[in-house]
Amino acid sequence: MSTLMPKKSADNTPLEQRETMIECKDVNKWFGELHVLKNVDLTVKKGEVLVILGPSGSGKSTFIRTLNALEEIQQGSITIDGTTLTDDAGNIETIRKETGMVFQQFNLFPHMTILKNIMLAPIWVRKWPKDKVEKTALELLKRVGIPEQANKYPGQLSGGQQQRVAIARALAMQPKIMLFDEPTSALDPEMIKEVLDVMKELAGTGMTMVVVTHEMNFAREVADRIVLFDYGEIIESGTPGELFDNPKHDRTKLFLSQIL
Ligand code: ADP
Ligand code: MG
Repeated sequence: MSTLMPKKSADNTPLEQRETMIECKDVNKWFGELHVLKNVDLTVKKGEVLVILGPSGSGKSTFIRTLNALEEIQQGSITIDGTTLTDDAGNIETIRKETGMVFQQFNLFPHMTILKNIMLAPIWVRKWPKDKVEKTALELLKRVGIPEQANKYPGQLSGGQQQRVAIARALAMQPKIMLFDEPTSALDPEMIKEVLDVMKELAGTGMTMVVVTHEMNFAREVADRIVLFDYGEIIESGTPGELFDNPKHDRTKLFLSQIL
């Protein structure tokens, strides 16, 4: 894969001095007997790009799904942009509006055009006026590089194009945070770059992003910080340089040796 350009940051304020967007304290979750998230502590600052790495089954998807209440936690707390996730339906609704999510499977509505897919939630959830929503949707399609696909159906698009629609659809809600769970894992190799390029452009605009991925070039070049999950725990956290060039834990070394 070709090398990605270095990330352009929209804000030069050091991360420590920025507003906190995501705060997880002592997060624990069980699926029955399986202790799937163990004492996860994590803070993500405004405009930060956090990449989550880790072996299959280590709890990455479960963790990222807790951030917009697609999964419940049994212990600890999660606060998103000042709103704490509890079983209060109002809080959950607030948080879901602010967090866009992109999955491995694009999950577009097959019976709706690309434009309708993008317009649905802003109209029904945000209750924004249709003409404004349509204008934004067309702009977003331009931004992800496929303005000519507006009136097609998902099945007529390539995987890479569908995933770019999924990103545009999430952005149409004007979220403050974007969550990505292995957004390129279901794509043919030649389509991975076009999706990563859109994500990189988004990172350059100062969007706060949490990205589960196995794309090491992306992680190295776009992440501000990387955390490594293993058996439901964060076992190491650092800048890309720290993690890739000077890993501290044996399990990090083992993971990197298997994937690089
Ligand atoms: P990853 O995304 O890192 O591959 P997951 O978060 O999907 O890991 O899964 C972590 C563990 O939790 C795995 O052992 C998986 O089998 C289990 N798991 C995931 N979802 C469920 C569920 N809904 N019910 C029971 N176990 C689950
Ligand atoms: Mg997963």
